[in-house]
Amino acid sequence: MTSQTDGSIITTDIAIIGSGMGGGTLAYALRNRGAKVLIIERGGYLPREPENWSPTAVFADLRYKTTEEFLDGRGRPFRPGIFYGVGGNTKSYGAALPRLRRQDFGVIETGEGVSPAWPITYEDLEPYYGQAERMFAVHGSADLDPTEPPRSTPYPFPPVAHEPVIAELADNLAGQGLHPYPMQLGIDIREGGACVRCATCDGFPCQLLAKSDAETCAVTPALESDDVSLMTNARALLLRTDPTGRRITGIEIDHNGQRRVVVAKTYVLATSAINSAAMLLRSATDRHPRGLANSSGLVGRGLMKHQNTALMAVGPKRNPVVFQKTLAMNDWYLGDGKSHLPLGNAQMLGKLQPGMLAMSVPFVPQRALAEVAGRSIDWLAMSEDLPDPDNRVTLDASGRIVMRWQPNNTIGHKKLVKALSSAMRRAGYPLIQSRAFDYGMIAHQCGTLRFGDDPATSVLDPLCRTHDVDNLYVMDASFMPSSGAQNPALTIAAQALRVAEKANFN
Ligand SMILES: Cc1cc2nc3c(=O)[nH]c(=O)nc-3n(C[C@H](O)[C@H](O)[C@H](O)COP(=O)(O)OP(=O)(O)OC[C@H]3O[C@@H](n4cnc5c(N)ncnc54)[C@H](O)[C@@H]3O)c2cc1C
Ligand code: SF4
Repeated sequence: MTSQTDGSIITTDIAIIGSGMGGGTLAYALRNRGAKVLIIERGGYLPREPENWSPTAVFADLRYKTTEEFLDGRGRPFRPGIFYGVGGNTKSYGAALPRLRRQDFGVIETGEGVSPAWPITYEDLEPYYGQAERMFAVHGSADLDPTEPPRSTPYPFPPVAHEPVIAELADNLAGQGLHPYPMQLGIDIREGGACVRCATCDGFPCQLLAKSDAETCAVTPALESDDVSLMTNARALLLRTDPTGRRITGIEIDHNGQRRVVVAKTYVLATSAINSAAMLLRSATDRHPRGLANSSGLVGRGLMKHQNTALMAVGPKRNPVVFQKTLAMNDWYLGDGKSHLPLGNAQMLGKLQPGMLAMSVPFVPQRALAEVAGRSIDWLAMSEDLPDPDNRVTLDASGRIVMRWQPNNTIGHKKLVKALSSAMRRAGYPLIQSRAFDYGMIAHQCGTLRFGDDPATSVLDPLCRTHDVDNLYVMDASFMPSSGAQNPALTIAAQALRVAEKANFN
């Protein structure tokens, strides 16, 4: 360990709480700069074991999901879809790594409200998107999607090839006048790469460390530097401030059951959107009874998690695909031809398997599920949800996290599901089954501590420093003022690289 420890007090220059997409990428970018960086992670390393690839272990037994409970808006407990440990949620993610579209950085009228503008443009983030794509070894092609934003650097690797069933579907969809394109993916499938193209990638940890998760691509390489160290099983409990309330003086942590304090010059909260907002609320003092960095009253508000629907298109032929998630479409992203109202993105899911479906429809016999899953092509329809201030994170009297979230932009989302269903019927898949994601599926949580220029209307500045507390940054999905309708992880990594380059951490 490079940081200093004196019994219960540990000192360092920069303390990063959380080792996921935001925290891990930032630690990597800050290595070898002379400052000591300590990553504080509440979980441990996810074990590499046969269960990594077992649909029953992962989806029925919920082996890697937290057992922690949040409360919904009516005070009912639920178990959120969160994975704590080194690499955070990226250990189980689908490694779909697209950029937001250029339009997502401006104001977008959705028909049910406005998706607000970002304080930075696509062009401000573009070079860092390129760096993040190289860091997370993204495969893709810039040629086929008309919404592809301008790029200064090519994709580091060519697209992951479709298997025959998906190639045939891509031809059919193109014949319908649509523009299917290869999904941008972070898997190590290049010549000589470690990926064996298995059927258990999306939602599963990778037993071979061949997925571009934050442990593999950020934390492990960061730890090669003498400047960076990692404490596992170290849960941050709250942030202490000085009497002015403008500086953090330490982090109280529970390290393997022992209370300790981490003292640093600069602190970075990177515990994901819901937990970071909760940490600021939990760190309230007499001077800041509404929570830290909350002069705007916006801490916890504007929670987004996308409107997501899983869609199974069932056809007469068997679908023998192994790695299905290679195709996506943005044809309805900026409108459906009849209006300019944005509907969202359609992308393949990893191949659904009976063990996974059993969770959603426990009353249907396994044989019937196997029959349906064997003939289906499986999609995710994803629409933007708007940052409603009433969709928010609070704490109850005992400090438990309360997550209130009502869907919005529902008309656009229904149109997206309808457009995708029609395209799949035309492609020869007459039976469509669709199901909205459950309340507790918060994979794409973001937006609880939005960034902006004005301290009255944002919590963080454009470099993710809190407006109110001089030595406190937040570098996870919370900064996003709108979610677009693309998977968020690459955008979080790009912003972390931008912050590392431009912010003054001394
Ligand atoms: C099943 C699933 C599939 C997904 N698929 C995709 C995909 O294909 N593409 C995509 O772009 N995104 C995907 N996502 C979302 C993506 O994983 C997240 O957007 C991303 O990981 C968010 O980064 P983050 O830094 O905000 O949080 P995380 O990556 O979750 O990191 C938060 C870290 O903080 C740690 N932590 C939390 N509380 C504390 C505490 N009190 N003290 C210390 N440490 C703490 C956690 O253990 C974790 O390491 C998926 C998510 C899930 C769950
Ligand atoms: S498809 Fe490749 S990267 Fe994904 S889990 Fe399988 S081996 Fe790992």
